[in-house]
Amino acid sequence: MPHLLVKSGGLASMPEWKAAFAEAAPELNVAHWDDAVPVEDVRYVMVWDPEPGRLATLPGLHVVFSSAAGVDNITRDPDWPRHLPLVRMGGDNTAQRMGEYIAWACLSLLRGGRRIALSQAASRWENFENPFSAAERRVGIMGLGNLGTRAAEMLQGLGFAVSGWSRTRKSLPGVASFAGDAELDAFLAQTDILVCLLPSTPETAGLISAPLLRKLPAGAGLVNAGRGSHASLPDIIAALDSGHLCGAVLDVFEPEPLAADSPAWTHPKIIVTPHLASLAPRRERARYVVDAIRAYEMGAPLPNLYDPDKGY
Ligand code: NDP
Repeated sequence: MPHLLVKSGGLASMPEWKAAFAEAAPELNVAHWDDAVPVEDVRYVMVWDPEPGRLATLPGLHVVFSSAAGVDNITRDPDWPRHLPLVRMGGDNTAQRMGEYIAWACLSLLRGGRRIALSQAASRWENFENPFSAAERRVGIMGLGNLGTRAAEMLQGLGFAVSGWSRTRKSLPGVASFAGDAELDAFLAQTDILVCLLPSTPETAGLISAPLLRKLPAGAGLVNAGRGSHASLPDIIAALDSGHLCGAVLDVFEPEPLAADSPAWTHPKIIVTPHLASLAPRRERARYVVDAIRAYEMGAPLPNLYDPDKGY
């Protein structure tokens, strides 16, 4: 029976992973990453943050599954086995949950969610007008892939005008598509709420910093659910303090967890969420991996493969 090693969510999460895999594929031998399984017996791994060098020690490995949509914790290992397929977590549930998070974040910026929470914490009855409705705000999504596309559809349903920026041009009904570096400035100039759903690559690192933020219209909002490496927190805070940005909802940070003394925790215009934007239940993720393994064993193509040429 093929072996699958799991390293995702710590040892405490193993009973839940094992139960989820047992339900989806009783024939699969599932063990924790640190269990004593002969290395040559390991055919599959599902990992979030394998320690560098370890994947290269598994001679019988056929496929690497990421337990998340991002794979940067795997590909940062200089010795990760590039010749093997690397499958990113996908599936409907991950996209739906991200769409819900982005919709919530944009509505929170629209309706002053952070201000309301601060007023409540101070037992202060503060009644204020919202300057805009969704129909008067333009959301620009950086990254129109699996997650960005679903978010775009859900935001349109709420009445926002939506555009997207990606490497290649898209044709999504009602969504203005901007493509490549040459069209980034035009995209930013027509964006009232900037949403980042980009993968972490050398090209996207540090993108959300002062020069980019200056290109947004005054009073814009920011949502980052891509990766912390995309953004400069000091630059975001400076833009909030100057009033150029009206608010930010940040789910991802560099490093994580966010340091206890980070100014982001207490900033009156920042909502901090601890990298929870889209985490499908373990049962769903186990089912996704099992379906992919079954397809692979039958010689069918694997889903949602990492492309080393693109870097995501
Ligand atoms: P996809 O690969 O499906 O989509 C990535 C999108 O980014 C594509 O539209 C791609 O363009 C675009 N892109 C990549 N590089 C560039 C670039 N240099 N310039 C412009 N556009 C670029 O990924 P997913 O939608 O599945 O996931 C996106 C990211 O979301 C993940 O990599 C991860 O970082 C983050 N994430 C965060 C989670 C959270 O809980 N906070 C949970 C899950 C994911 P093109 O379409 O032309 O290829």
